[in-house]
Amino acid sequence: MLIALFDIIFGANKLLKSKMNIHNFTSKLLESAVDEFAKLPGIGRKTALRLVLHLLNQEKEDVNHFGETIIKLRNEIKHCKSCNTISDTDICNICSDLSRDTSVICVVENARDVMSVENTHQFKGLYHVLGGIISPMDGIGPNDLKIDSLLQKIKEENVKELILALSTTMEGDTTNFYLYKKFKNYKIKITTLARGVAIGDELEYADEITLGRSIVNRTLFESSI
Ligand SMILES: [Zn+2]
Repeated sequence: MLIALFDIIFGANKLLKSKMNIHNFTSKLLESAVDEFAKLPGIGRKTALRLVLHLLNQEKEDVNHFGETIIKLRNEIKHCKSCNTISDTDICNICSDLSRDTSVICVVENARDVMSVENTHQFKGLYHVLGGIISPMDGIGPNDLKIDSLLQKIKEENVKELILALSTTMEGDTTNFYLYKKFKNYKIKITTLARGVAIGDELEYADEITLGRSIVNRTLFESSI
């Protein structure tokens, strides 16, 4: 009786495991495609299999185009020689836009942040992408970031303001402080993003640090309308 029960539990467990770890592939090609998709962030093997099967149902030309686009992206993408963001050309379309204000530089962590700020349509200056933030836990120090080229820009160009637009994490704050110390003796204004209660937030749900900062950095009502 006990052995039978053990068999049932053990058998069910085995079945569950084999369902979770898809390993009975009927094709090596299928399996290696699933392996590649499963390397992507947030994609488990089940989702990888679903995506691969979806591709198999598409027209050959569409799948070829999909593959070529990824290969082209990897082989041809560039980093702007001026601001370091991802670009198709040596100088990106933001840096080469003559209507932008070259005296204000917004310092961000990565190209995704450039897109986020651009999406606000509120900023008409230029960017500088650091390529990361200082994070001793991950072994990333100032020398791993594009700080020297920023210094060169400040020395050689007509920069009047540096906006530090980094994450509001400990690593972001550490990087902000490092940059502030490095550039404070140059004749430029160093600003950082306003931090406070988010639009649409109810005060009772705001954490103490955010609410505290909002009180300290309060603004004139007139400037908020
Ligand atoms: Zn650029």
